[in-house]
Amino acid sequence: MKVPVVFLISLLWIGTLQAQRDCSFKMIPADQGTLQQFRTDNSSLQSAVSRDTAANEIITIPVVIHLLFNNAAQNLSDAQVLSQLKVLNDDFRRLNADAANTPDAFRSVAADTRIMFCLAQVDPQGRPSKGIIRKYTTKEYFLGDDGMKFSAAGGDDAWDCKKYLNIWVCSMFGRNLGYATPPGGQADKDGVVINYDVFGSIGNLRTNFDKGRTATHEVGHWLGLQHLWGDQNCGSDGIMDTPQQASYNYNCPSFPHVSSCSPNANGDMFMNYMDFTSDVCMNMFTLGQKEKMRSLFALNGIRNSFLLSYACDSSLATGAPVPDDTIPVARTAAGINIFPNPVQQMVNIETTNGYELKGKTISIFTVSGNRIFQQMCNSNTEKINLGQLAAGIYILTVGEGNDRKITKLIKL
Ligand SMILES: [Zn+2]
Repeated sequence: MKVPVVFLISLLWIGTLQAQRDCSFKMIPADQGTLQQFRTDNSSLQSAVSRDTAANEIITIPVVIHLLFNNAAQNLSDAQVLSQLKVLNDDFRRLNADAANTPDAFRSVAADTRIMFCLAQVDPQGRPSKGIIRKYTTKEYFLGDDGMKFSAAGGDDAWDCKKYLNIWVCSMFGRNLGYATPPGGQADKDGVVINYDVFGSIGNLRTNFDKGRTATHEVGHWLGLQHLWGDQNCGSDGIMDTPQQASYNYNCPSFPHVSSCSPNANGDMFMNYMDFTSDVCMNMFTLGQKEKMRSLFALNGIRNSFLLSYACDSSLATGAPVPDDTIPVARTAAGINIFPNPVQQMVNIETTNGYELKGKTISIFTVSGNRIFQQMCNSNTEKINLGQLAAGIYILTVGEGNDRKITKLIKL
């Protein structure tokens, strides 16, 4: 089993390195069976004919956000989701305002990848969509075991990964920022996971990770990029124009940051999105990284099918959209109504929030604590005749234990 090992490693990272990009990118060896399936299973695409990318055409990738929330804070606003889409588009098109911070030494290799992202306007069944699925989950957090990708585990099933980039936004255990699957992995796990408190550039976000660059980094992995140091000491990411560096950088180094294997005095490209630096310090992909990412869309490339995806076009949707989930109303005894009060004769006990009254005990006590009445509810609307009760102040309770309605009742 690979997953627990990866998770253990990320736990270890959490323990040893506090405020850094603790991204757990999983290397998946190319699986010919999976690749074959990617190439031939075009049955759900409108056209079975693949097409090649024109050399520098804009490639637009439909994105579906699976927003899994256990409480209101995790149910991010549409505006916050849109802020993330803007960051992705700005960063991949090199329209980011901080592009000016790229050192002169690296500016000549900084790239507009000509890759863009839209929130999906059509769901896999052809219905209209906002590209945001809001789904209530009973899970307070998810572990690194991909549970968020499966409805049966409290998450939400992936949309067809040949047409959509799936991004799951949820609460993850510990300080994990996010992780991604590289191209060619298991279809129902394909996509990116981002912790809800580092998603977007507005809202209540974690210090140093508040500019939406976690998603930029993870989508870079999803498009086949590796960390600059190749995940080993002075390793390689396989990209010609990213200088070799000894290891990751974090926080905000100042330029130049020379390490033991730097090829020259310019040192590390720590402002590249594929390093571990703080959001505010990242501002570039390179031409080599652009070439690598775009190669996935070429004929026979693993993500070639996206060139035929029409999910960004709202005019092609039909039918009614699927409604959002909301946080369930707590069905507690607090939702019980007792009226009229003061009462002369009949007192009514009813629930207003679906709380099940049937089977609960109604008791009436004197102010000195003696129980003078007890009855089991037979339905969700009860009437009790208090005509025989002496005038005065009483305590009426419904239910047992902590979940109990306690009311002061005045008998006239
Ligand atoms: Zn990473």
